[in-house]
Amino acid sequence: MPSKLYGEQSAIIAEQYGFADKVKPLIKSRYDHTPLAFIHTYGCQQNVSDSEKLKGWLEYIGFGFCDEPDNADLVLFNTCAVREHAEARVFGNIGALKKFKKARPDMLICLCGCMPQQNEISEKVKRSYPYVDIVFGTGLRHKFPELLYKKLIQDKRVFDNTLDAEIYEGIPVKRDGTFKTWLPIMQGCNNFCTYCVVPYVRGREHSRAPEAVVAEAKELIKAGAKEIMLLGQNVNSYGKGEEHGVDFADLLKMVNDLEGEFRLRFMTSHPRDCTEKLLKAMRDCDKVCKCLHLPVQSGSDRVLAEMNRHYDTTHYLSLIDKARELMPDIEFTSDIIVGFPGERRDDFEKTLELVKRVKYRALFTFIFSPRRNTPAEKMEDPVPKQEKSAWFTELLKVQDEIAKEHEKTLIGKTVCVLCEEENDGIVSGKDEAGANISFHGTADMIGKFQNVVIEDVSSGIMGKIKEN
Ligand code: SAH
Ligand code: SF4
Repeated sequence: MPSKLYGEQSAIIAEQYGFADKVKPLIKSRYDHTPLAFIHTYGCQQNVSDSEKLKGWLEYIGFGFCDEPDNADLVLFNTCAVREHAEARVFGNIGALKKFKKARPDMLICLCGCMPQQNEISEKVKRSYPYVDIVFGTGLRHKFPELLYKKLIQDKRVFDNTLDAEIYEGIPVKRDGTFKTWLPIMQGCNNFCTYCVVPYVRGREHSRAPEAVVAEAKELIKAGAKEIMLLGQNVNSYGKGEEHGVDFADLLKMVNDLEGEFRLRFMTSHPRDCTEKLLKAMRDCDKVCKCLHLPVQSGSDRVLAEMNRHYDTTHYLSLIDKARELMPDIEFTSDIIVGFPGERRDDFEKTLELVKRVKYRALFTFIFSPRRNTPAEKMEDPVPKQEKSAWFTELLKVQDEIAKEHEKTLIGKTVCVLCEEENDGIVSGKDEAGANISFHGTADMIGKFQNVVIEDVSSGIMGKIKEN
């Protein structure tokens, strides 16, 4: 089935607008004031982007928004299941809502996202958290109005974790920021890395039509976007299996060619699918930041095979070298898992070696967390937690030294900063590689690009405005 164009409404979404219209008067009569919603998003940018759509529905229905649950009439937690720690935090936060619900029984409590997509979690919430009203997974976020309607009409708790991984265009969006924006180009994942829960909670991979992506990018630029992050679990496989024949490198060029002053980023790139064509497209696209997030996960080929990553370190390093050959100033960031089941000290040392060889600008490091129903959950895992923690600390130390050395080389260089905030005359924002840069400036710079000469890296990276 061809994907929908941006803004085009399917019958399913048209039906949801119908439900939203029916919910409006019910909400209006439920509260004697403009109802307020508090949304808390856990986890990755994909979730942040999903929450912008859930907020879009709530705004359409007539909700305003607040920053704390204290006075909220509706609380929505959009959850993450990638690691156990994230789940534990969500349960803690749901527990804390009990007192609000007791004081204000009209409050609506909703839980959605990757956690309740799993039956076990959904059942646990049903059993142990009776004050949670609406529970649904990532697979039904487009049907939020219908679920709200059911709750309000039947006055019964609503649980539905059907997984519909289809892409739906035409959902209203309330964007969190005007100048820093997310643009999902696909959803789901087909990779089944053995440690990862994502393919189970987000379903199979589907790409949006290129026209839909370009039309949304145009709208974002018109509305003042200065940075667009193209999002997908594996953007390098964009367009696979679609009739349009546009791959990710082509799509990048299409968005890059749009008129306007903006910066383009993308994540996440899977090393198996990262092609020379893409690296060349990065080089040729003037708006694409020369920074590649290329998660390696491990520096040991044995562990990579166990992880089902479909590449080895030779392939990974050849990508790094190729990218550096094409773009000498390119910087890299990566994700690494420490303590995968069966990982030995010699495997871990290979990870350290790889990290020293690549010299990443930044690393996102995680200790392996067993996820239910994934193959790695059942693998033998003899290394004690304390040892894994010690390896983890060792990796952080190595990366810290690399980052410090790298920062020293920045002194005297000019970087382009997209200014994000101002406090007491200090403006801070991100450079092309996503590193935080601060300098003396004024609040009117927020949302604009500023060339900054780096002066000091002793505590954070400080610079001064470059005079023309
Ligand atoms: N699709 C992206 C990101 C997936 S989740 C990718 O393939 O890179 C983000 C990161 O969380 C992963 O890259 C991995 O490093 C980490 N992660 C995923 N599952 C994990 C688990 N069970 N334990 C520890 N870290 C995990
Ligand atoms: Fe998870 Fe692997 Fe898919 Fe990334 S590529 S979401 S790590 S299964």
